[in-house]
Amino acid sequence: MDDYVIKCGTLIDGTGREPVKDAKILIRNNRIARIEQKGGTDLDNFPNIVDASNKTVLPGIIDSHKHVLNCGGDGVGVGLTVAQAKENIHQIYKGGVTSVLDLGSANIIELITKLPQKQPKIFYAITILTCPNGYPGEYMDRKFYKMGSVAECETESDIKKAIKKLYKKGVSTIKTAVVTRTFDGRPQVCWTDKQLQALTDEAHSYGLKVCAHITYKDDYAQAARCGIDSIHHAAFDGKMYEKDLDDMINKGIVFVPTLSLIDLMVTGLKENWINQKDYNPPVSDAIKENMRNFTKAFQECPDDKPVGNLFVKVPKEELCRIPEIQLENVKEYIKRGGTVAMGTDSSLGFSLHTTPVREIELLAEAGLSNVEAIKASTLTAASVFGKENEIGSIETGKLADILVVNGDVAQNLSALNNTEMVFINGKKIYHKD
Ligand SMILES: [Zn+2]
Repeated sequence: MDDYVIKCGTLIDGTGREPVKDAKILIRNNRIARIEQKGGTDLDNFPNIVDASNKTVLPGIIDSHKHVLNCGGDGVGVGLTVAQAKENIHQIYKGGVTSVLDLGSANIIELITKLPQKQPKIFYAITILTCPNGYPGEYMDRKFYKMGSVAECETESDIKKAIKKLYKKGVSTIKTAVVTRTFDGRPQVCWTDKQLQALTDEAHSYGLKVCAHITYKDDYAQAARCGIDSIHHAAFDGKMYEKDLDDMINKGIVFVPTLSLIDLMVTGLKENWINQKDYNPPVSDAIKENMRNFTKAFQECPDDKPVGNLFVKVPKEELCRIPEIQLENVKEYIKRGGTVAMGTDSSLGFSLHTTPVREIELLAEAGLSNVEAIKASTLTAASVFGKENEIGSIETGKLADILVVNGDVAQNLSALNNTEMVFINGKKIYHKD
C-alpha cells in the first residue's frame, strides 16, 4: 500500500495524553507523517483510507520482557520445537504486540528473527551475564550455557569481552541478575558492587541499557546503587524496602514487575485450566501434557512442599501468595512516583504468547489509569531498550507500528483482546477476518 490515512474513532497515542476523537493519521514511507484532529483538510478525502472510525487506535503494544523460545508449562525449554517457536511469533502479533524484548534465550534467536514469516520486531539480549556460579546456575542446565543463554564473567576484562561480543551480535540491551539466594533459600554467590558497576559502565559506553533480573527484596538496593537501568520482577518474598523504592525512583530506573507470570500460573493451576473444555492454548501436545502434569502435581502437592518440577522451589502456599506480594510492591512503587513498564515474561506456566492483557490490567490494578497503563505498554516499554525515539507512540516521525482494536480501551482495557488490525512499519500484517 502507498501512502494512506487511518481514520480513528478514538486515538490513544501512547504518550500518556488523554485520548482524542476523530483524529486522522497519514502514513508515508513506513512512518507517521502527519496527525490531524480538525476536519476539512486534504486528509478527509485521501485516496487510501483505512476506516477505523468506530474503533480505538493506539501504538502497537511493546512487551519489554519476553522469552520467544519458551512455550509454557513448568520449565525452561519444555516441548520446544521450531514449529512451536514459529507459532509463538504468530500469536504475539495477533495479540496486538508489535515489538518484544527477548531477555535471555539462546544464540538461535538471531535466526528466529530472520524466519520468512510475518513477525513482530524482536529485540534481544541473548545472554544473561553473571558471576561464576551465579544465577541462574541453580536451575539452568549447562547445555543452555553452551547455546549462549548464560555467560559467566569474573574479571573486568571478562565483562568487557562479553559485552563487546554481544554488542557485535546486535543485542538491544544487556541482561544480568542480582540474586543472593537460591529459589530454595540457600545463599547464592552474586556480583560485587565493583563488578556490577564495571558491567553497567561498559554497557553504557556502547549505548546499551542494562536490565537486571531480581526476585528478592534484599537485592534491589545493589541494583539501584550500581547503574542498572531497568529492574525486572517485583519481589516475591515480601515488602520491598521504601528506601530502595525511592533510590530506584531517584535513579530513574524503570520497573518491569512482570506480575502476570506468577498470577496466571497460580490461577491456571488453581482453576485447572488445562482440563477445561474451552481452554485450548496454541501449544504443542507435549506442552499440553506438561501443563496437565504440572496441574496434577499442584493439586496433589501439600501446602508446605514445592510444586512438581517447577524450578521455583518454594512451598505451594508461598507460591500462591506471590501474586499478592508482588502487586503490593508495585502499588507502592507507583504511589511513590515510580515508572513502570509492561513485560509479561511469557512463556512459563499459563502465561502464553497469546495476549499481554492480563499484565496491562494488573498495572492498572496497581494504580495506573488506563491511559497510563497503555503508556507503560508502549512508550515506556520501548525506553527499556532505548528505542523510545523510534517506536512506542503515535507521533510524527515515528515508525508506523499501530494497533486497531474493537472497543473503547480508555474505558475498558479488556477491549485490547479484540485485535482488528496490526501495522508494523506501516505494513498491515494482520487483519481479523
Ligand atoms: Zn524472564
